Amino acid sequence: MKKIQMVDLQSQYQKIQPQVDKVILEVVSSAAFINGPEVKNFQTELEKYLQVKHVIPCANGTDALQIAMMGLGLEQGDEVITADFTFAATVEVIALLKLTPVLVDVDADTFNMNIDALKKAITPKTKAIVPVHLFGQCANLEAILEVAKENNLFIIEDNAQAIGADYIFKDGTSKKAGTIGNVGTTSFFPSKNLGCYGDGGAIFTNDDDLAHTIRGMVNHGMYKRYYHEVVGVNSRLDSIQAAVLRIKLPILDNYCNARRTAAEYYNDAFASIDKIITPITSAFTTHVFHQYTLRVNGIDRNALHQHLLDNEIPNAIYYPVPLHLQKAYADSRYNEDDFKVTNELIDTVISLPMHTEFEKEQQDYIIKTILDFVK
Ligand SMILES: *Cc1c(COP(=O)(O)O)cnc(C)c1O
Repeated sequence: MKKIQMVDLQSQYQKIQPQVDKVILEVVSSAAFINGPEVKNFQTELEKYLQVKHVIPCANGTDALQIAMMGLGLEQGDEVITADFTFAATVEVIALLKLTPVLVDVDADTFNMNIDALKKAITPKTKAIVPVHLFGQCANLEAILEVAKENNLFIIEDNAQAIGADYIFKDGTSKKAGTIGNVGTTSFFPSKNLGCYGDGGAIFTNDDDLAHTIRGMVNHGMYKRYYHEVVGVNSRLDSIQAAVLRIKLPILDNYCNARRTAAEYYNDAFASIDKIITPITSAFTTHVFHQYTLRVNGIDRNALHQHLLDNEIPNAIYYPVPLHLQKAYADSRYNEDDFKVTNELIDTVISLPMHTEFEKEQQDYIIKTILDFVK
């Protein structure tokens, strides 16, 4: 059996190696390393895939969030609401821009923003909501859209973990995750569902004016060369990464399907085990399983974590500390009673290996090792 990895990027690369090697060498010999045709072509292809008017590539998913907030004109003291249970990038950029992060609890079954907590957190200073489509499925966007409309707030979708997922509206129509709020962001970090071979990110919007503003902002605030209208940043996707992404984008749906198949295989194996709660998919979204995250029920999560490591099965605790308890983001405004779910999740979640390249015997071995522990 091949060694089990949390994300098997080497096997994935082997299957596309000839195409990838070829385009990387082409970029090198063309010397169009920055803003070459590969970047422009990838942008157009991603716009088409997402059915969104504007994709603005940038250097990584954290920059994408920061630039989206800058583009919306958020100002010091504006409150921005996001989920307590997520990767820190989301809250980090809010704090860096001297906006005020407001963290809210999540739902235990979907790990996504709780709508009552969101409503409760709104104040006259609230300017934006950042739903994070955690682990590969959409947050409850229709409810969030309603809250945003009532209170005149922007929505910035942090779609670093759910590219390729569909949000299904009550009327049966659907749109791609990240294209529904005022602006969406993603990351092409290698282990993300659409990963490049270094750092990369993108911003999506259907708003022409916002797209124009952001295109200047990613390029030092220039709308005309060497004329700096606003304070911008330097955030670019390089041509080699774009070339790799152009090979992988047409396979993204296959990758999502492979992840779903692997998730169903795990789900079936654990279905009858009370001590393990398998992930659910909300009715309003498809799931692209960036992570496959179990919750344990009445067993010692840390002991399971160690048992898997002892058997050479990588696994991870996403996330071990809620953001409201992180030293950098702690705030006397927060009340522990408001974070009951997150406070429980950090002790009960465990993410299993999840990627596009499983061999059946690998998953069987992971499942057997877990069943041996719980039985
Ligand atoms: C990965 C990730 C980011 C940041 O992306 P980078 O490309 O690593 O900067 C932001 N938000 C979430 C939810 C992520 O998972």
